[in-house]
Amino acid sequence: MRVGIPRSLFYFYYFPLWKTFFEGLGATVVTSSWTNRQTVECGLLSAVDEACFPIKVCFGHVKELCSQELDFIFIPRLVSVENRSYICPKFMGLPDMVRALIPGLPEIIDITIDLSRNSRALEKDLLKVGRRFGKDRRVTRLAYNQGLAEWRQCIRLCRQGYTMAEAVRIWDGEEVTLPAANSLNIGVLGHGYSLYDRMISMNLIDRLRQLGCQVQVVENLDQALVEAKAGEIPKRVFWTLGRKAVGGALLLDSQPHVDGIVYLACFGCGPDSMIGEMISRKVYRKPFMMLTIDEHTGEAGLVTRLEAFCDMLQRKKAINL
Ligand code: SF4
Repeated sequence: MRVGIPRSLFYFYYFPLWKTFFEGLGATVVTSSWTNRQTVECGLLSAVDEACFPIKVCFGHVKELCSQELDFIFIPRLVSVENRSYICPKFMGLPDMVRALIPGLPEIIDITIDLSRNSRALEKDLLKVGRRFGKDRRVTRLAYNQGLAEWRQCIRLCRQGYTMAEAVRIWDGEEVTLPAANSLNIGVLGHGYSLYDRMISMNLIDRLRQLGCQVQVVENLDQALVEAKAGEIPKRVFWTLGRKAVGGALLLDSQPHVDGIVYLACFGCGPDSMIGEMISRKVYRKPFMMLTIDEHTGEAGLVTRLEAFCDMLQRKKAINL
């Protein structure tokens, strides 16, 4: 059995878990390529105009997978990955949108992942998937627990300064070396599936590193402190990624060694329009720059803004010395 996993959206967070899980059920996992111009163009043609850029890109990945010999394609219905918090509703509707708009799909495995209250429903769905692969409860549980263990390894790698995407690449056998930083320390925030997709973010993180910056993303920070900082906001942010971004921004703002903060937002993203605004109002100690991108954003404009931001931070640093 061959299962396709699009290299987009929550691939950047959970690929080790799902790859290990499906391999534990005896399947071969096939991924789409890294996002490229063709993926984007294909996605733009297939998705509805109202969708945000990362969702459109995901459509491009699904289209690419359709051209492969697959038995299944894995597009989970992501509702919540933790207690009392939610993922953007677009993830909830993603399997339905894909089904409605892309003809000739292999069967979609669209288990519902909703851990907002407990994991019972997820367990039931996982067992159903196991049965499709002819595996019993014991084997399915084992495969899932092994997946979780692999995923936790990646989380530990992030604490050594890697982004989640880099941790996943290391886990997948690639060699990843962090360049030496020589000047600035910059916090970079945003949804991982935009930030870590080099095509969507126009290689934002590597560009900052090429400018000599040490980049810190939210996964590099102490998660208990991120949560504590997010708790300082009077109303709890109930989007998981939004809350991490707010907590991460407030934590980075309070750290003396951080020189500036960049937030990457997606045009057309409801949560970003609120979270980005909230962060820009709450961050007051550090220079803050919000970059909004979509499929029309030009690379030259983004590079100019990054260079100008870094120049400004260098000058500020020189004055304060
Ligand atoms: S949070 Fe924003 S960028 Fe992410 S899927 Fe939802 S609308 Fe798109």
